[in-house]
Amino acid sequence: MFRIKYQQSRRAKLPFMSSPNQFQVHNPATGEILARLPIQGAAATVQAIESAAQYVPAPLETRQKWLETIGAALLAQKAELAQIITEENGKPLIESKAEVEYAAGFFRFFAENIGVLEPQILPKTARDCTWTIFHRPAGVVGLITPWNFPLAMLAKKLPAALAAGCAAVVKPAEQTPISALALHQIAREAGVPESAFGLVCGDASAIGKALCEHPDVRMISFTGSTQIGKILAAQAAPFLKKLSLELGGNAPFIVLESADLERAADALMASKFRCAGQTCVCANRILVQKSIVEKFTDLVIERVQNLREIGPLIDKKGWQKVASHVEDALQNGAQKVWGEKPITPKNDWGYFFPPTVLGDCRDEMRVFREETFGPVVAISNFEDEMEAITRANATPFGLAAYIFGDDQAQLNRAQAELKFGYIGRNSGTGPAPHAPFGGFKMSGFGREGGIEGLLEWCESQTVAKAF
Ligand code: ADP
Repeated sequence: MFRIKYQQSRRAKLPFMSSPNQFQVHNPATGEILARLPIQGAAATVQAIESAAQYVPAPLETRQKWLETIGAALLAQKAELAQIITEENGKPLIESKAEVEYAAGFFRFFAENIGVLEPQILPKTARDCTWTIFHRPAGVVGLITPWNFPLAMLAKKLPAALAAGCAAVVKPAEQTPISALALHQIAREAGVPESAFGLVCGDASAIGKALCEHPDVRMISFTGSTQIGKILAAQAAPFLKKLSLELGGNAPFIVLESADLERAADALMASKFRCAGQTCVCANRILVQKSIVEKFTDLVIERVQNLREIGPLIDKKGWQKVASHVEDALQNGAQKVWGEKPITPKNDWGYFFPPTVLGDCRDEMRVFREETFGPVVAISNFEDEMEAITRANATPFGLAAYIFGDDQAQLNRAQAELKFGYIGRNSGTGPAPHAPFGGFKMSGFGREGGIEGLLEWCESQTVAKAF
């Protein structure tokens, strides 16, 4: 099994080790210790950055080949990689397999589209010159990723960075670094030099600060909480570094009375319960038109009763947040229409939260104000389209929104008014490799996926060449 191979040779797999201190990686479902890794900090990060600064971009064809090879290897090793994701994150195996496929899709997409980085001669000449745009690599880039998609969140960044000719210093989440280590191993086997893909893990704030302050790092790409995104933005500001921030959301899920309710309920289940509700695009505020709210709630309860597999929350802190959101809602007048009583686990693992459906939620409750990040369906009703859109937009966040209905003119109008970077229209699906994804407002800026997600890692250089 990959994990055993990895454990036996883990010292050799970690490229930069300067600290004798170690931290443990646990299986959040069982508490099993999966790995012990050194706690790295500023010194290891600087070492990784200095190595990255030596990287001379390989030819475009070579970079393309790396991405193709890694994408194929991910698929070939899907079972082992999915096992790693499930062990360190806790999500069901079927979701982990889907995550590996999704991750491979980014490597494939960027390999297929690397040609857009070829110099572009503009058709228009001016001032006795021809004008050419070169897409130069941003340089050394820092990649900081979260635990909810340990492989995919890195796969949205790394292949685009490598395609662009950047050298990446990667910091995965301390809860889930093994997927990143596995990807590192696969990338090295595909021929990616160590200088193009360094890996550090341990003291997050020391690593983050070192990445932000080192003059050789030209861009930081971060996926995580808005709180940490702001810290990184402040730390990078004096150096005017390029930032790409994919931060928290508070996704509205609007169901209009014209909607196909069965379809909307199915979509809600897919969106809400993926990774036990711990995704930044998952439906958080379920807004349902008054005339259909009871019927829709019944359809949701029916589906929640039939939920077959749901993983634990990542840790105690996550569990306590979800529990406190539910408590706050119930104290303020929400009704629990489905869900067992949560029982606080005695151990430091096994933080399973019972799938819960709440009715009569209101905007001032925590379930509506904040991202709950758990398996809680919080439903509120609205009178008309205008109220739904106004309330949906009444959040500092702007990542994903979903809307269901049958009146196409109404949906066209609504999607233009919704201040969110990603809209599911009669669909609960999440982002895809070929399409740019990112937030408005406090959900961040920069795009991942699509051609925009490739150009993000480049500086365009314009050359005006005299005839
Ligand atoms: P969550 O609360 O979901 O864990 P975080 O934003 O805290 O989200 O974590 C996302 C990523 O940011 C993780 O890799 C984490 O280790 C990292 N991180 C946490 N604090 C900092 C920091 N001060 N500087 C840089 N990275 C950080």
